Amino acid sequence: MIIVMSHLATEPQVAAVVDKVKEIGLKPEISRGEDRTLVGVIGSNAYAYKEAFSHLGGIKEIVQITKPFKLASREFRPHDTVVDVGGVRVGGEGVVVMAGPCSVEGEEMLLQTARHVAGRGAKLLRGGAFKPRTSPYTFQGLGEAGLKMLAQARSETGLRVVTEVMTPGDVELVARYADMLQVGTRNMQNYSLLQEVGRSGRPVLLKRGMSSTVEEWLLAAEYVLSQGNRGVVLCERGIRTFEPATRFTLDLNAVPLVRELSHLPIVIDPSQATGRWSLVRPMALAAVAAGAHGLLVEVHPNPAEALSDGAQSLDFEGFDRLMADLGRLVDAMSRELV
Ligand code: PEP
Ligand code: MN
Repeated sequence: MIIVMSHLATEPQVAAVVDKVKEIGLKPEISRGEDRTLVGVIGSNAYAYKEAFSHLGGIKEIVQITKPFKLASREFRPHDTVVDVGGVRVGGEGVVVMAGPCSVEGEEMLLQTARHVAGRGAKLLRGGAFKPRTSPYTFQGLGEAGLKMLAQARSETGLRVVTEVMTPGDVELVARYADMLQVGTRNMQNYSLLQEVGRSGRPVLLKRGMSSTVEEWLLAAEYVLSQGNRGVVLCERGIRTFEPATRFTLDLNAVPLVRELSHLPIVIDPSQATGRWSLVRPMALAAVAAGAHGLLVEVHPNPAEALSDGAQSLDFEGFDRLMADLGRLVDAMSRELV
């Protein structure tokens, strides 16, 4: 439930409410808005304790959060969350571009890609060092050596680094090199991983499970948020449907829907969603038109020779076309590239 404090409430009154929440064994989450303070009360069946607050001063009303996800819900935080990724702001009115190769394959190709995408306005470099491949016989990523290359590309270009972590045991290692931790589609319901990235102190890019509902996805975000980590960015990357003509089906409904249900930023990965480079630009533009806060796009210097996901990777020229169109689109929407 949410305890909405009156705009006249004093600090000692807010503190008394917080103390009461703790005394009954629930968890307080304070959210300070421009005109009033909200105290979220987290715990199962919190609303049953409503009466315990009836004698405290400074309370305007007590509202039940009807959604199963609480900290992630728009009810809990009416204003959009902006996630700070090493100084780059993800969320709000800006549109952020995260780009890079599906896998870090080597130093030279990574640097070449990083320099190119940085020059065209990307702010985050995305490349996988630990790859969740469907087949155990395909390229699995360079591991820590790949993380070092990402960190080097950051110091050369200023791009912030986002990269996937697959197991709880690797969180500390990946967090040492990355500005943001990606949880992939296959791990969206790996709850011990979600808790560990929640404790890492790093912002998290949480991809939607390919067969997960929006509610399950927001509950996955809740696992991260409930560890005290407020830096969650959601990423829609396509879901499984009956349609085999594209790799997945991009659920663009999710963009405005999630923006209604939650205050968390949402970005779109049109590369995984379509599986085909020729569909990436149109779907990227459609995503931003629908209100996405950013894009995650696969870019490779020579897609034909990529060790993973070459078919859906843009070459440099394709990326340039996308960025040129995106510039015009954000202008038309009175938004800005961050
Ligand atoms: C990727 O981003 O390269 C990737 C493996 O993503 P997903 O988890 O969405 O398949
Ligand atoms: Mn990929």
